[in-house]
Amino acid sequence: MELWQRLIRDSVHTVDQLVDKFGLDRRVAENLNEFFQVRINPYYLSLIRYPGDPIWLQCVPDEIELDDYDGEEDPLQEDAMSPVPNITHRYPDRALFLTTSQCGLYCRFCTRKRKVGDSGKISMKNLESAFQYLEKHTEIRDVILSGGDPLMLTDVMLEKILKRLRSIPHIEIIRLGTKMPCVLPQRITPKLTEMIKKYHPIYVNTHFNHPWEVTPESIQACTMLADAGVPVGNQMVLMRGVNDDPAVVRELMQKLLRMRVRPYYIYMADETKGAKHFKTTIEKGLEIMENLRGWTSGLAVPHFVIDAPGGGGKIPLLPNYVLHHDKDKIVLRNFKNGVFVYENAKPKEEGETMKDRLNKSRQSKKSNVRTRTIVITPQSQNEEPEVIEVEKQ
Ligand code: SF4
Repeated sequence: MELWQRLIRDSVHTVDQLVDKFGLDRRVAENLNEFFQVRINPYYLSLIRYPGDPIWLQCVPDEIELDDYDGEEDPLQEDAMSPVPNITHRYPDRALFLTTSQCGLYCRFCTRKRKVGDSGKISMKNLESAFQYLEKHTEIRDVILSGGDPLMLTDVMLEKILKRLRSIPHIEIIRLGTKMPCVLPQRITPKLTEMIKKYHPIYVNTHFNHPWEVTPESIQACTMLADAGVPVGNQMVLMRGVNDDPAVVRELMQKLLRMRVRPYYIYMADETKGAKHFKTTIEKGLEIMENLRGWTSGLAVPHFVIDAPGGGGKIPLLPNYVLHHDKDKIVLRNFKNGVFVYENAKPKEEGETMKDRLNKSRQSKKSNVRTRTIVITPQSQNEEPEVIEVEKQ
């Protein structure tokens, strides 16, 4: 048994342990365990600094989960977009391939609770129909292995899947959606990275939510992946009490970049059953993005998205940097609220050549009275700026 497998074996996972370690009432612990089972491996457990801290909130069950009556089992409608077992095909050229129901840790905010936990939730017997679907659909060029966590598979099993996918000519990219570099970095071994290298291009999407998760162990795991030529991106979920603080998020994004992990997405929390208490306001997410853009490297600024309830896919959200836009110009504010004007190009006329365009531009420069744009900065973000054209002297 490898070290990571021993750590899984030694995880907190029983009602007795919940009662003893976290002081939960036995009846509540039983109900919680039935609602969504518990797995906290000793590595992740060791990151907890005090009860209720950002690490604790992500993995220790709480009675509040049982009060969420409105949450959805499948908020992203993945099952409705599943043409064969284990495949979700939502976007035109990519597909999600669920390979296991197991994870190195069961996150209390998980969107896929219905699929995660006991091994009956995702059947490994149906992989053949999934492979056949991927083979038949030549428009799929990008396959994301997920679950559960595909790195819960043994190296041998994972290699079988990668080999079969690599035999399908139209699949260009394979992505592993795995939380292991964060929750059980011991899973990233030299044997694993040597095997992965044979099936490039392989990308990893991982899932750090808080700077305390960046440890010597997780730095080593991400470094090993990067050294094996695997681009690693991070998907953070914005959660109340965990990371709903611009300073915390900026620290995390900077730490990720230092270990060669590119911040990729920040998600608003999904409307998953039992996770309502994690939801923050959209305004908080926009404030966090305002505190990244311009204030730190562009590489540290991920896309902020809502994975639209009902299966609409990821929709980006941005703080409003456009103060005014008409056919001639756009008026923008920068990260320090300075206001700037960018002149628009004239649309191309039918049959117009580049030479015609240059001649027109020269003539208009000679004949036209040239103007200058003055922008009166608005007093608040809700007001439009006043834009005045004046003749140039
Ligand atoms: S690792 Fe991913 S799939 Fe597994 S419980 Fe956590 S969020 Fe859910």
